[in-house]
Amino acid sequence: MKPKYFLFVLGCQMNKSDAERLETILEQIGYEKTSREDKADFIGVVSCAVRQSAMDRIYGKIRSWNLIKEKRPLITMLTGCVLKKDKEKLKYHFDILLDIKDIQKLPEELKKRNAQLGDFIPTTSYLSLKPKYESKFKAYVPIMTGCNKFCTYCAVPYTRGFEISRPAEEIYQEVKELIDQGYKEITLLGQNVNSYGNDTIDKRSPNYGKKLPTFPELLHEINSWPGDFWLRFITSHPYDMSDELIEVMAERNHLAEYLHLPVQSGSDEILRKMNRYYTVDHYLERLEKVRQAIPEISISTDIIVGFCGETEQQFAETAKLMEKVGYDMAYIARYSPRPGTAAARAFPDDVPAEIKKEREKILTEILKKTALAFNKKFIGQTTEALVEGTKKGKLIGKNRQFKTVTFPGSKELVGQFVKVKITDATAWGLNGEIA
Ligand code: SF4
Repeated sequence: MKPKYFLFVLGCQMNKSDAERLETILEQIGYEKTSREDKADFIGVVSCAVRQSAMDRIYGKIRSWNLIKEKRPLITMLTGCVLKKDKEKLKYHFDILLDIKDIQKLPEELKKRNAQLGDFIPTTSYLSLKPKYESKFKAYVPIMTGCNKFCTYCAVPYTRGFEISRPAEEIYQEVKELIDQGYKEITLLGQNVNSYGNDTIDKRSPNYGKKLPTFPELLHEINSWPGDFWLRFITSHPYDMSDELIEVMAERNHLAEYLHLPVQSGSDEILRKMNRYYTVDHYLERLEKVRQAIPEISISTDIIVGFCGETEQQFAETAKLMEKVGYDMAYIARYSPRPGTAAARAFPDDVPAEIKKEREKILTEILKKTALAFNKKFIGQTTEALVEGTKKGKLIGKNRQFKTVTFPGSKELVGQFVKVKITDATAWGLNGEIA
């Protein structure tokens, strides 16, 4: 009988994508996936350093895994985004600790414990591994890893290191194979996709001196290919949102009319403290240009409330910006310091929890209003949705603008594009019937 593995994946899409490559490694050496951690012989954690809650969940799990270890052999491994401080504490609780970029060393580690395991054929980097995609119709393709921006609140540059771009040919091959297999939605992934290829001028990067396309060139290339698929990308940084990128987005074709552009704050002073490299005026000017080029585009953002020293006035500037932009979606987070980051070292976390909560509530109310206004524009129109699954007996999917669309229909349509006539809209989605 094959040994079984269970993966505990926390955090962002990049971690989920990394987990798909981890599955490839484990299955190549003879493991079989299980959805039950109590049945697993190997448990791998792909951790997230963005929020303390992820660490708390890991500590909660360690206790139950230790109980299993008392009864039978179980190997546990920690990888993903882990801060140095957390690594120091957690190394006593895991059998194996590996940086995600070193994940190809896992078979060697496992073979030390189980000589029966099969051989593993390594690739040049872990991103070159062929992933075991979770979905049969939508896939995330990492184009780079790491980040050079060093936003003061963020742990990513410390956990994932500097930006390293994947060779373009490798990305093209992965995307081509997905299109040939009939995948309907492909999302290019990176912490800051806009700076793809910039590491060719960075002496620290293995890509130093190589010829790589820019991100707009990479997008333009894939967007010009034949096939029945949508193309998306996350995440963009406002500082690197170039005219060339906006021009390519305006080609539309496979590129969906959706942009996630994190603003984080509407106060220049807070943006400076966050080391975000742009001002509110720059952000608004970029958005204006995007909307001129693609009037039907849907815009979403990330906002942190209660960042160190955020005054009532500075928060009011964020609320004003939200009203002005009229976001179609916003992911609002209450600031919590991550040990090891510049903000945690330099600034006190001095906005009381109840004020953070209140500010989050105020922004959510603004979002509800602006998102509803955007969604109402769809009423009476026909929109195309990629059906992702079912919920409460109805089909649920996303349209090109990344709006959730719910409608009655047969389960056979999961994974297909369907035209839907919109009859009703809420702040969080669209309802309709097959056109
Ligand atoms: S751009 Fe800033 S927030 Fe995003 S990954 Fe890089 S450092 Fe973190």
